[in-house]
Amino acid sequence: MIPTVLPTYNRAPLSFVKGEGSWLIEKDGTRYLDLGSGIAVNALGHANPALVATLTEQAGRLWHVSNVYEIPEQQRLADRLTDATFADTVFVTNSGTETAELAIKMARKYWYEKGTPRAEILTFEGAFHGRSTGAIAAAGSEKMVKGFGPLMPGFRQLPWADIGALEAAISEDTCAVMVEPIQGEGGIRPLSDADLKRIRAACDRTGALLILDEVQCGMGRTGRLFAHEWAGIAPDIMMVAKGIGGGFPLGAVLASEKAASGMVAGTHGSTYGGNPLACAVGAKVVEIIADPAFLAEVARKGALFRQKLEGLVATHPAIFEAVRGQGLMLGLKCKVAPADMVKAGYAAHVLTVAAADDTLRILPPLTITDDEIEEALRRLDAAAVALEPASLSV
Ligand SMILES: *Cc1c(COP(=O)(O)O)cnc(C)c1O
Repeated sequence: MIPTVLPTYNRAPLSFVKGEGSWLIEKDGTRYLDLGSGIAVNALGHANPALVATLTEQAGRLWHVSNVYEIPEQQRLADRLTDATFADTVFVTNSGTETAELAIKMARKYWYEKGTPRAEILTFEGAFHGRSTGAIAAAGSEKMVKGFGPLMPGFRQLPWADIGALEAAISEDTCAVMVEPIQGEGGIRPLSDADLKRIRAACDRTGALLILDEVQCGMGRTGRLFAHEWAGIAPDIMMVAKGIGGGFPLGAVLASEKAASGMVAGTHGSTYGGNPLACAVGAKVVEIIADPAFLAEVARKGALFRQKLEGLVATHPAIFEAVRGQGLMLGLKCKVAPADMVKAGYAAHVLTVAAADDTLRILPPLTITDDEIEEALRRLDAAAVALEPASLSV
């Protein structure tokens, strides 16, 4: 019999009733150190007092009004995002997938309005842009698209990080390039600053718009507000979600005035997107994370965590191969199935997330403390020991 919850997930037998900072707590009081953050969502930890206060205050005042009215909380969120980034304008969504849909529409509409329609969007293998029919067509992976065809046309996937292939494929018919500066689901695979610069240059040469998907790597995760800032480039359109709501469903498409020029009244919309409750929380999250002192702490803790993970790799050469990523978006390339390591983590009361390319993801709340990083390493070490063949353990 089909479960009453549609069985599209293989769920672990864990169930949490409370969250506190970097910790998730089961009914019987068992505490798990959360290095997954709901997949980079709980950027400010669980039950963050500032966010609880903001949400509660707004909940007592006004939850929802239609976008046919002005929404001051949405305006505040958009102003904070445009103040802190390349963007001139913002559309607020409820998820990352919705940002993919709008990014694609916006890019195509830009060329349509210019009178020289361009449809093809270049993407990369291993990408993840969401689960809508458009977003799976963009990513193109067999696992995600199988059985859901016919797919939305107009996407071409290039080998990951093969910038030469991109330079060969891009032309004056290319509508846009859509790419994650650091692939998340694909296995914490970063593009180098030089690669990002070359992609930007290829777009500039052909006019193609650059769409950066910073749904997972953005919102302070790498130690800058957005990951592309490290490379000193800017996109034309950027997708943001996950961390921006701190746990409240929220996303945003940020764009330059030029890229957004086709999106006039009536061309896009959302019933819930931009509602006062979500935007009040989002504006608070942006205020906290955009603070340079907060971002410097993320960078410092990311370096500390990474250094300790390098030690873990060295101690367990049969389990791990390498560390990669930036800031607090870290990946452990595994020699065992990452799902086994996730499971061993459950037994050691530490939560991690598997990704493609044999990678274990470490995406803790950005508010994790130095002591919690130490504790994380003790628990990851215990999990690795449990996986080691008896002959290899020391
Ligand atoms: C999670 C994710 C998405 C999709 O976001 P949803 O909120 O799950 O729809 C898109 N792009 C990237 C890079 C993601 O990590």
